[in-house]
Amino acid sequence: MRNGFAVLALAATVAGCTAGLEPGKPVPAVPAIRTVTPVWIGGLRLVSENSEHENCHWETTYPAVPGADDLTSTLRDAVHRRLTTFFQANGGSDEQCQALARGDASPEISINSDFLVASGDVVGVEMTTFDFMATGDGTSTRSYWFDGATRKTVPATELIAGDALDRFTEILVNGLSGHDGVDTAAVKEALGPDRRASTLTDLAFTESGGLVVQFDQGAVAAVPAGRQLVVLSPADAAPLLSDLGRRAQREAVQPGQRLDLPGVPVASPAPTTTAAPPTAQPVDCLQVKCVALTFDDGPGPYTAQLLTNLEQYNAHATFFVVGQNATYNADLVHRAAAAGHEIGNHSWSHPSLPKLSDKDVRDQFDRTDQAVGKATGARPALVRPPYGALNDTVRAAAGRPLILWSVDTEDWKYRDSAVVTKAVLDRTKPGDIVLMHDIHQTSVDAVPAILAGLQDRGYRFVTVSQLFGGTPLTGGTSYDANPGAFGRG
Ligand code: ZN
Repeated sequence: MRNGFAVLALAATVAGCTAGLEPGKPVPAVPAIRTVTPVWIGGLRLVSENSEHENCHWETTYPAVPGADDLTSTLRDAVHRRLTTFFQANGGSDEQCQALARGDASPEISINSDFLVASGDVVGVEMTTFDFMATGDGTSTRSYWFDGATRKTVPATELIAGDALDRFTEILVNGLSGHDGVDTAAVKEALGPDRRASTLTDLAFTESGGLVVQFDQGAVAAVPAGRQLVVLSPADAAPLLSDLGRRAQREAVQPGQRLDLPGVPVASPAPTTTAAPPTAQPVDCLQVKCVALTFDDGPGPYTAQLLTNLEQYNAHATFFVVGQNATYNADLVHRAAAAGHEIGNHSWSHPSLPKLSDKDVRDQFDRTDQAVGKATGARPALVRPPYGALNDTVRAAAGRPLILWSVDTEDWKYRDSAVVTKAVLDRTKPGDIVLMHDIHQTSVDAVPAILAGLQDRGYRFVTVSQLFGGTPLTGGTSYDANPGAFGRG
């Protein structure tokens, strides 16, 4: 599966060309690259990190794949290297990036991954980076291939047989010739034996086994010409592939629904029943002190622990989930909904939504609605935009109440349970909405002390919808607390 705005940005900007096409002919549509959602891999998780700072937006997600440790560490290192470059371009560090107030022009980087192949003994991951401050559309892509036979991550060029590389690059040179901004001599040099490993970084397959070769802006053409693409038909690709390439192509054409690597647990079957919450005692927040604890960006590795802690205090909370995380943790989303917690929509991949087109914003919400719907049987009634960033397009696309917050723990910044606990206990008033993130261990560890402290003061822990009780909420309107709640004064 592709990130919604990734594929749209690609379609809009890639100069496509089928190998052998005469220059000057119409550019064909970008073919559908095969991507998979390997819910069959037990223990697969997405590692998400982000900054919620208004001056410096960054979000990174990569998969941690059981049985493919070398791939996981390669992806993690790639993310950290790219993030370091981003900070260097914006003050030098995350802290300095945050300190530079820039009004509406806050820098933003978003790094996400899609599985190209994840069955048999091959895993292919395409990492897409959007640098919103970069020239052009700021997109760059790279595919990483893990070979179960050697248990190593290899460069994309390893999909091609060693003795076919010259023939392959010849086809690419022909395919690129005639594109705007392409200088054939420069392309030959960029694809020559010395440089091809750093130029040919993104190879992927179509659903019929065609080979898609993508080039970042500036790699093989003048920068204003944008990204470039060459597609080889399955018949043209077949004689060029290495043994790994053939295995990868086979799994792309017909995904095996099973990853055959040592140490990969089989996934437990996805929940299929509707997660109807138990008939909870109704709470009237006009009569008793209420607070709505909210947890964003998950589900993640600590969400199960959080659910157990909440249950011990008979507390209900609201989870604003990121769609791509919900997809791989459907069991946790189901468990949360079944326990009476509320599930809200926090976008698919956590971009700053006002920077996206109307269509891409809707796509971010729709895909998350579908992921949550699959896990719980219900569409989220509430939306929280990443970074709290809103404009009219986002309000209209959400079509539901937009839930912000009145107590910001800044837990993502401090990563300290004592600080998070103190922030909540010092600042919470009845009717408040408290913002935390369950992707951080320190935040989840703070929850028992928060629940104990607020319970001692007579608080009931309710979902956001319960907090507003009888007050009807309006689609497209933002809310940060219930000013009419009991005890708020
Ligand atoms: Zn968030």
